[in-house]
Amino acid sequence: MRVHNFSAGPAAMPLDVLEQAASEMSDWGSSGMSVMEVSHRSKEFVAAAEEAEALLRELLAVPDDYRVLFLQGGATGQFAGIPLNLSAEGDTVDYVNTGAWSKKAIAEAKKYATVNVVADESASNYSTTPDPAAVRPSQGSAYLHYTPNETIGGVEFGYVPDTGDVPLVADMSSTILSRPIEVSKFGLIYGGAQKNMGPAGLCLVVVRDDLVGRARPQTPSVWDYRAMAEAGSMLNTPPTFGIYLLGLILRWLKGQGGLAAMGERNRAKAEKLYAAIDGSPFYRNPVSPDARSWMNVPFILADDSLDKTFLAQAAEAGLTNLAGHRSVGGMRASIYNAMPMEGVDALIDFMKEFERANG
Ligand code: PMP
Repeated sequence: MRVHNFSAGPAAMPLDVLEQAASEMSDWGSSGMSVMEVSHRSKEFVAAAEEAEALLRELLAVPDDYRVLFLQGGATGQFAGIPLNLSAEGDTVDYVNTGAWSKKAIAEAKKYATVNVVADESASNYSTTPDPAAVRPSQGSAYLHYTPNETIGGVEFGYVPDTGDVPLVADMSSTILSRPIEVSKFGLIYGGAQKNMGPAGLCLVVVRDDLVGRARPQTPSVWDYRAMAEAGSMLNTPPTFGIYLLGLILRWLKGQGGLAAMGERNRAKAEKLYAAIDGSPFYRNPVSPDARSWMNVPFILADDSLDKTFLAQAAEAGLTNLAGHRSVGGMRASIYNAMPMEGVDALIDFMKEFERANG
């Protein structure tokens, strides 16, 4: 029996996608082989990668002057790849600090550039996003980086910062494909695949043409955007299974009505879960209502001595991976695209029942 998996990532995938992958696992497209066993340069695999890119462009409405790159090294690799590609030695780069993932991006960027933190939400213990007026790039900045959705804190921007001519760079690891976005507002969008895009091992970069071709000479070739763009992301062996599975997920997303329909579903799921948390003195979400994530919903129990019992009984009820990140404790329900409303309903029912028994 499949559980409702609330993991923050690697995260639940649509059952239809898993079943299709299973059905063609040993014989993909009548090749007599699995997709993992074919050459990445075969015309069949190249066609699958091209279809994945075309679907991604269609669903995200990626303008023609952006490159789509399928890389490795995760979003963490791009914490270095971004300053190496978009800034020169000695440049200043701007970062917004809204929590754990921002901090990691900042620490890595400091190895390569002078980091200016333009807004820092530590005073609210990272339960807020900055006032839009505060997110202004500094003079001569090479780019401004922010984390639209903080996976651990459950803090999400309700707006896209306006940085004028300074390229806006967004770590969309835990929010990409959750709703429509206007790609033209960004210079670069990136994210690890393992939440809304497939298995771990694939990292997506969508980058505007004018930002391609500026990599510092010491940039590893596999993260040099121009080298990768010119090679169709196949400078070396790409993560073939991840690209194939991304294609299946994008087909599924299109069948679900695309990102507008998915966004409405995600909004409804999140609203219902926050309403259940806010409606009870037994549970609490610490995030400011205007900054609450649709994807990652942290909550704490009024009595934290019940945490272990809550998690154990939830798992018994088929609701798994609800423990908050090890750095913060409490609970966290990650409700990405593949989590149906029934999963959220089952969690809310369980929470009410647990409160009745222990409140
Ligand atoms: N940024 C965010 C917002 C994340 O949630 C994660 C992973 N949880 C990362 C970066 C790091 O991604 P990866 O593990 O792919 O390097």
